[in-house]
Amino acid sequence: MKKIINTTTDSEIIEEYVCNGCGNKVQVIKMKMLFGPQKGQWFETKKGCDCEVLGIIKTQQQEAKKARLMKIFEENSLINPSLREATFDNFIPGEFSQSFEKAKKYVCDFDIKNPKNLLFQGSFGTGKSHLSVSIAKALTAKGYTTIFISTPKLLTKIRNTYNKNSEHGEEKIINSLAMVDLVVFDDIGAEGETSGWVMQKLFEIIDLRAGKHNIYTTNLSSSEFEITKDMGRIFSRMLINTDLIKMNGTDFRKRQFVKGGA
Ligand SMILES: [Zn+2]
Repeated sequence: MKKIINTTTDSEIIEEYVCNGCGNKVQVIKMKMLFGPQKGQWFETKKGCDCEVLGIIKTQQQEAKKARLMKIFEENSLINPSLREATFDNFIPGEFSQSFEKAKKYVCDFDIKNPKNLLFQGSFGTGKSHLSVSIAKALTAKGYTTIFISTPKLLTKIRNTYNKNSEHGEEKIINSLAMVDLVVFDDIGAEGETSGWVMQKLFEIIDLRAGKHNIYTTNLSSSEFEITKDMGRIFSRMLINTDLIKMNGTDFRKRQFVKGGA
């Protein structure tokens, strides 16, 4: 329905354009208040589309979603206090600038329909976990659900649910791992056991995440994974659809020490 606007008296079309959002023709109209306390005053209004209002609502919804996702990350992650504050911004690349770039690229390229894994492999304290936490947080900010798991802590937690005779507990943990867009399995191989129940459980969990996005970090070399059949099985599963990022080098804390000039 077209309205004819009288341009001589109370209102005037001052601009017309086609909205990029909805494709509607939009009129910017200057109108004069004909009654009420603001009688006689001019104001501007838009006719033809609601994109601006909807945009504000959408932004608010997205912000609420991000806050919700961050809460999921914080409540479900098993993460050491020293890593809680880790982000891309406070990572000191040093000799690992290539690893740093690859980690950021993983975030940029993240596509829910095209799952990809990363394996950070290398010596203790080189920043593998720091980069993994940074990836998880950056993806959370982009609207994805992520969980960061210290693998030894996860297995301890699952085992504790057995001790308390509450299988429900394990189910809850496993379900949350199955549902999220990305899981970081930190410190694989530091469980202190190389066979038996722990390895069986770990294999099950990694298997459950097949065809999804995962990040693994480990201090173990490839040959160290071959110590037992169980470990070897886990390692070969970790390599499917996975980019390997090697980070062998100076301990991060030592690097900081050198940087400080002490
Ligand atoms: Zn519009």
